[in-house]
Amino acid sequence: MQPTGSLHVGNLEGALRNWVRLQDSYWMYLCIVDWHALTADFEHTADLKERIFQMAVDFLAAGLDTEKCAIFIQSEVKEHAELHLIFSMLITVPTLTRLPTYQEKKDELDSYGFLGYPVLQAADICLYNANKVPVGKDQEKHIWLAKDLAIRFNKTYRKVFNEPEALFTTIPLILGADGRKMSKSYDNHIPLDYTEAQTTKRIMTYFTDPLKVKKGDPGRPEICPIYLLHQIYTPTHAAEIAPPCRTGELGCVECKEEIAKNLNKALAPIRKKRGELLKEPDYIWDVLEEGASRARERAQNMMEKVRSAMKTDYRKKKK
Ligand code: SF4
Repeated sequence: MQPTGSLHVGNLEGALRNWVRLQDSYWMYLCIVDWHALTADFEHTADLKERIFQMAVDFLAAGLDTEKCAIFIQSEVKEHAELHLIFSMLITVPTLTRLPTYQEKKDELDSYGFLGYPVLQAADICLYNANKVPVGKDQEKHIWLAKDLAIRFNKTYRKVFNEPEALFTTIPLILGADGRKMSKSYDNHIPLDYTEAQTTKRIMTYFTDPLKVKKGDPGRPEICPIYLLHQIYTPTHAAEIAPPCRTGELGCVECKEEIAKNLNKALAPIRKKRGELLKEPDYIWDVLEEGASRARERAQNMMEKVRSAMKTDYRKKKK
């Protein structure tokens, strides 16, 4: 995940909850990709450290357990850069320019780094010989690319890499206050470090069904971003929210007050843990260092195999 600083409800439901579940079934490498962050904004690096710190705090506050996963910063494991360089020889420029993510942003981002970031992503995956990568559908092409690079390397030299597969999960759709996908860049998000009062205030600004102007007007919960939140945080939503919304019996203000209450209740343990972790900044940096140390060990081991397969382990041969 790119270091965007403290996370929001969309990140929590779209990624973190899933990772917390997966950590009981898989050993995971969770990489805060600071080099990837440079592809979109290489000039503003002064707050990267703080953004990394806040993200690590949220990872732990959400329930990620350092006994079950390695949480680390990408640039702390230099082998990511080495494998990226090797992989960049195995792929053509047209393959990269055809990727939808490149096509979408090529007019604003035309750096070599941006073109090559899916190759760095492939290195991030293959460096740990990952077999499953928990991603959303929008990343499907990039996982395909990582698999393709693993296959190309194995065919060109010898088998070193597993062929990684995407591990898709059903991710609930979380919309922001303006009805678009919840995102920090749209400023429509509910940050995990908001207070209860800030959360309630943000909820009260949410778009709802535009045809439901006042209490008494029939509503359409299926098109309402507030109802999407109820589906996650209000277990009785099907009986207690949708029917009275449709008949008009339930007004939007009341409905928003209810979701604000339920959301604040669900976020309370995360916020409590967050507050405790913030009192121990050294602990957060220790977690990241320990994670990097574990990741480095695995990465170095993989790179020895890569160099050996490529017959570029010159020093070893001399002995
Ligand atoms: S009553 Fe609730 S679910 Fe219905 S439109 Fe208003 S906010 Fe949305």
